[in-house]
Amino acid sequence: MADTLKFEDRVVVVTGAGAGLGRSHALEFARRGAKVVVNDLGGSTHGEGKGSEAADKVVAEITAMGGQAVANYDSVEDGDAIIQTAIDNFDRVDVVVNNAGILRDTSFAKMTDQDWDLIYRVHVLGAYKVSKAAWPYMQEQEYGRIINTSSAAGIYGNFGQANYSTAKLGLFGLTQTLAIEGAKKNIKVNAIAPVAGSRMTETILPPEVVKALKPEFITPLVVKLCAEDNKESGGLYEVGAGWISKLQWERTQGAKFNPSEGFSAEDVADNWDQICDFTDAEKPKTANDSFVPVFTNLGIKIPGM
Ligand code: NAD
Repeated sequence: MADTLKFEDRVVVVTGAGAGLGRSHALEFARRGAKVVVNDLGGSTHGEGKGSEAADKVVAEITAMGGQAVANYDSVEDGDAIIQTAIDNFDRVDVVVNNAGILRDTSFAKMTDQDWDLIYRVHVLGAYKVSKAAWPYMQEQEYGRIINTSSAAGIYGNFGQANYSTAKLGLFGLTQTLAIEGAKKNIKVNAIAPVAGSRMTETILPPEVVKALKPEFITPLVVKLCAEDNKESGGLYEVGAGWISKLQWERTQGAKFNPSEGFSAEDVADNWDQICDFTDAEKPKTANDSFVPVFTNLGIKIPGM
């Protein structure tokens, strides 16, 4: 199929682009004409060490196919420096793919403060710093596309990943609020929860599964969400092996108690089945939507709700 989603004159920053998913995204954006900042700290999956080789290799791959790319070796914690690389070399920044990531898996009982902090710093602080540095440029040019890389571990929880789950669902919170704040300036922000074979998953999945779950199967969704005509914002998508699905919040109709009469834990217990009954579940789209039954139960009408 002919490429209709083009990125000529667009500057794309992909963090953690020296391997795995990030490399695949960077190559595809470059193939579609983008000027790409290939950021990678070049450390281990556990966040130890650093080096320039990973980013340099991907820049060389892009250059060899006739594309344009520049390497950056900063940690995403130094988001300003990464965006400055885009400005110094290409004069603008249109797309940010927050993809860099590490793991420090261990049960909550054994988790150290360092395990907690490192995961927070790379995933949450890193996405914040890179997006925050790009934001004024995107506002000024009234154009921006941001992808945050979440995870099933964040959406559903996973044994041994309390630090990672917290960070990854936090990125969806960031996505939803930036989508609201960016709307007026044509800045679209979305999140993906991928499953792919990479050095991150090669220790937990059989080799044939790692090989089959190609990172290249994640990239088409990322490219679609970063395209000029993309209208989606604030979404979260599960993606892997050629399957792509959008998620949304759902809640039960709930049970109502009379606030002026008061109610007890026993009343809550007696109505537990109704509180948890997903028949006719509703799907609030905004925080204001979500508050409607609260104010209705008080008998108060808030303008605009
Ligand atoms: P990967 O290890 O192959 O790639 C991650 C890259 O990020 C590495 O090249 C690494 O050097 C780089 N990086 C790490 N810390 C960095 C930092 N501080 N600054 C800059 N670069 C840094 O792993 P991957 O599977 O390609 O993971 C990419 C993203 O996808 C991660 O955010 C990961 O959490 C997420 N993810 C992956 C899967 C999966 O199935 N592979 C599932 C859910 C989420």
